[in-house]
Order: sequence, then structure tokens, then C-alpha cells
Amino acid sequence: MYCITPKLTATGIPTTYYNLLPDIGVPGSPPLDPATQQPVGPDKLAALFPMALLEQEMSSAVHIPIPEELLEAYADYRPTPLRRARRFEKALGTRSAIYYKYEGVSPVGSHKLNTALAQAYYNREAGVKRIATETGAGQWGTALSYACRTFGIACNVYMVKVSYHQKPFRRTMMELYGASVHASPSQETSYGRSLSAAHPDHPGSLGVAISEAIEDTVTHPGTKYALGSVLNHVLLHQTIIGQEALAQLDTLGVFPDVVVGCHGGGSNFAGIAFPFAKHKANGKEIEIIAAEPASCPTLTKGEFRYDHGDTANLTPLMKMYTLGSGVVPDPIHAGGLRYHGAAPQVSELLARGMIAARAYPQGVTFEVARTFAGAEGIIPAPESAHAIAAAAEVAREADAAGKARTILFNLSGHGLLDLGAYQDFLAGKIK
Ligand SMILES: *Cc1c(COP(=O)(O)O)cnc(C)c1O
Repeated sequence: MYCITPKLTATGIPTTYYNLLPDIGVPGSPPLDPATQQPVGPDKLAALFPMALLEQEMSSAVHIPIPEELLEAYADYRPTPLRRARRFEKALGTRSAIYYKYEGVSPVGSHKLNTALAQAYYNREAGVKRIATETGAGQWGTALSYACRTFGIACNVYMVKVSYHQKPFRRTMMELYGASVHASPSQETSYGRSLSAAHPDHPGSLGVAISEAIEDTVTHPGTKYALGSVLNHVLLHQTIIGQEALAQLDTLGVFPDVVVGCHGGGSNFAGIAFPFAKHKANGKEIEIIAAEPASCPTLTKGEFRYDHGDTANLTPLMKMYTLGSGVVPDPIHAGGLRYHGAAPQVSELLARGMIAARAYPQGVTFEVARTFAGAEGIIPAPESAHAIAAAAEVAREADAAGKARTILFNLSGHGLLDLGAYQDFLAGKIK
């Protein structure tokens, strides 16, 4: 019905990844080598990533074909459901229609498997035998552990220490899938050892864990590194979410005027939003909103400038919204949103006013998650609850203005391994 309908397999899975920025003619800012301030070429990054992923990282192709074997892996859980949240609408008392795309049906419970499978696949194709990575709340580590298992690669995970202790079941999942898991800062790397010695109570952060995983990679021959968000190729893999949603809504004869995703590093937000952003660039009126935690307000309060992606300043400089690579955000239950930076592509769109950002305190997100769980039965990940908070706020604003809107949000994962956080909420420990 609408002009841009993705090409799908017989069962409804997109056959290509969608590369928004070249399609709408928005140039990205290249990553810079901190020593020379010159753009970093693929050769410098080849120690960390296989060439196929670096090509995707810098690609100006608009549609990138998904290999057959990868499509088969996706078919285990895709297409994911698209539902209208009628009982949630009723609970809010809104006139607006609220749809959600549910990524919690993946075997690991979140959208992160979409890129984990792709990254494991291209690494295996390149002959890689071992991957090192970091994980915040544990969803990325879980997804990559399972994807590495699927494609026969060893997986070594640095898990932010506060989450390692708060979310022991995530570690159990990763170990069941065959990965090795270390609380970060760890004793495995020289950076981890020096940080632990200086600050024995360091809670860890995503920035620190990234530094450890990179050090692990460059000191272990045959090892590559994988990142679960932020980078262009990660966002690219996640665009299967929004392409599917476009097609699913199209069969219902629906087109949203608001698209919402929660934002940590930007991957699930880009995944749902970029295929719709193309329509916005073509003149459709769509409001696109990234929802982030008030305690880690990268997009709403950060600066748009070149900064490092990690705390030890090992990564190239990326032009992005950032709170500063030295900032260690306060521990919150939505650990997956606790990152000082943002995806350069998302940052570029925000700086150009093509998307908007809103921030929510924990108390608000848990309250709306309770309402959603009671209405729809699905207990959302605390990260995803930020998207629900934004969807509910937009609906309320529309009601106040006497309007009805059509809202789509991405429910990036379920919260069945976050029940400790919900327990704290029910006990009144989250204000
Ligand atoms: C990791 C995670 C996020 C945040 O990461 P993005 O790259 O911003 O998507 C959001 N929701 C869930 C369920 C996650 O696991």
C-alpha cells in the first residue's frame, strides 16, 4: 500500500538490511584516529573486526543482502509479532492506537540476537575461532554466547560488575551456552587489574568492560571483538525489525505517525525507526522518539562531539552525543541503557532534528511497565519500559489536545530475568 515495502522471504523475513543514511543523503562523520585526528581506515580496525563487517560499517549500499544461512537462523524466531495493545490503550484511557513490535520472543529474550547471529556468522566465514565482548545487564552477552554457539565460536564475556552480581541468571544462561564470563573490572586484563587495584569497589561500566574486551582481543591471536550496539553495522542488522513492522502494519492498512524506541547505544531504536525515517525524509509526517533514562541522559543532555566509545580511550573517536567517556553513570535496573555515548548515526539524525529524544526517571518506567504487564501479560525489560513510557506520554498529550494518534513502539525484550528489579519496585524501593 505504501511506497517502500521491503522484500521479504516466503515467511515474512526481510531479505536485506537497510542502510538509511546513504539512502537519504545524510553523510556520516567518520571515526577518527585519536593520534592523527585522521579518519580510521579499515586496515586499523581489521585487528578487531572481520572485513565483511567493516565493509558493512562503511558501506554506502542502501540494501545489503542477508545470506541464506543467516536467514535460516532468523527463521527460528522471526518474523516477531506485531500487536495492537488494546487493553493497554484501555488502561490508559486513550483515544490513540498503540502498536508494538515484540522482540522478546527471540530465544535469548531480546532484539540483540538479530546482530549477534549476523556477527557470529560473518566471523565464522572469516575463520575466526574466538570472540571477546563486553556486556552490561547481560542481554548482549547472552545473545552473543548463543550466536557463537550456533556458529561454533568460543565466547569470552566481560560483564559489568554491578550487573554480574544483580543478575546472576544472565551469567547462568551465558555459561549454559558455553561462554566464559568475567565480572568487569576483572583480573583478566592489565586495565582491569589496575582499575581494581585503584578502586576495589568499582561498580564497573560499559565503557570499562569495552576497554577490557578490546585489550583481550588484541592480546589473544585468533580473537576478534564484537559490539552489541552503537556501530553502523549493528544498527544495520537491527533494521530487520522496522522493515518487518512496516510490512506487518501495511497488511493491516496502518501507518504510524509516532515511532518510539528506547535508547541505550541506539541499536533497537534505529532498528525500529530507520525504515520509517525514510518515509519521514520523503515527506510523511512521523514523529520519531528515542526514550532514555533520566539518570543517563546522553541524547537529551549530552554534547554532540568527537569522543571515545570506552573509558580507557582505546576506541577511535566517534562523533556522537556523549556525556564524556570518563563518566560512570549511576547504577540503574535498566543496565542496557547505561552508556555514556550514542550511535553516531542516531546522533547525526538528532542533530539534524529528524528525530527527538525524551528522558524518564526509573519510577515512571516501572509504573508504566506495571500497567502494561497487567494489560498485555508481557513483563517488559526495564530498558523497554522506557519506550512504553514515551508511548504512554505521547498518547496522553494527544488526548489532552483532543487528538488520536497511531503509535508504534519497539518492545525490545522481556523482563523475566529482571524480576529482582520488579521485586524492588513492588517493595517501594524505586521511587
Ligand atoms: C541492550 C538492550 C537495550 C539497549 O540497547 P540499544 O542498543 O540501545 O538497543 C534495550 N532493550 C533491551 C531489551 C536490551 O537488551
